Amino acid sequence: MSLLLSLLAATVMGQDPVKPRPTFDQAAAWKVLTTQCDFGPRVPGTPGHLKCRDYLVETFKKSCDSVKTVELTHNWSKGKKVTMWNIVATQNWEKATTRVVLLAHWDTRPTADQEESAAKRKQPILGANDGASGVAVLAELARAADFPKSVGIAYILTDGEDLGPSLEEMFLGAKHIVQSRANTKQYFGDNVPNYGILLDMIGDKSLRIPVEPNSAYYAPKLMGAFYDHAAKIGLGSTFPKVYGPSIEDDHICLNDAGIPVIDLIDFDYEPWHTLGDTVDKCSAESLGKVGKMLHSWLKLDPPFSGPVK
Ligand SMILES: [Zn+2]
Repeated sequence: MSLLLSLLAATVMGQDPVKPRPTFDQAAAWKVLTTQCDFGPRVPGTPGHLKCRDYLVETFKKSCDSVKTVELTHNWSKGKKVTMWNIVATQNWEKATTRVVLLAHWDTRPTADQEESAAKRKQPILGANDGASGVAVLAELARAADFPKSVGIAYILTDGEDLGPSLEEMFLGAKHIVQSRANTKQYFGDNVPNYGILLDMIGDKSLRIPVEPNSAYYAPKLMGAFYDHAAKIGLGSTFPKVYGPSIEDDHICLNDAGIPVIDLIDFDYEPWHTLGDTVDKCSAESLGKVGKMLHSWLKLDPPFSGPVK
């Protein structure tokens, strides 16, 4: 059909012609990454944190059946009580037969502790990769979702992952999910997920996400199937079947509580926990690769079944 004819047809049908969008639009994901960074550091207790929370809630409302925040508090070793919010959004959660929880942390590190100078170490990081990247992919995945009727998704944006300074005060949002049966019910209702996939630091320009050993320990069959699928759709060089470093992340406490979760992370990132973790170190192409992989995986019917071990 010619352009004129298609415009005419659209007018006849009473609609404006809409430019088609790709299934996972990396440019749209990139916009979500830069918008988060425009709020500045998203450290609990700061204005940037509150603004970003509201923006993310509004963003997920456009594509999900339900969106809510779950509040948690922590008496921080730095002498103040901090309030945090996990953001929970679902699609087709009740009716599904395969339920997948997708996670990424939305908070950012309060201190750039990997900087060499003591003055810089006291400042908060921007977290373009360590914070904004995983959230950006999940937001665009939620928009692009055209998953089978059997599949239900819960998107959980965790807070307090990177509060610190030590490990005891990290992963606070994820720990809250499994702190008690009543807590878990706040997130998933009566339907616990079959498994989960965690995204962290997946925006690096030179992206390479090797097998994370803790994930391979907790869910070897799931991990194997996921990496096989990556190779099958031409993403084998982004998801190479080789071991990377073992990572302490939001997935550990969930696995220990019986919810299998694998971690997709590119820890080979020079500006990690420095003031240099900025948008110029990330790329839309990298978000696109992870988005394409997850989109393709979740369109499988079912996206993995059977025991993860
Ligand atoms: Zn971090």
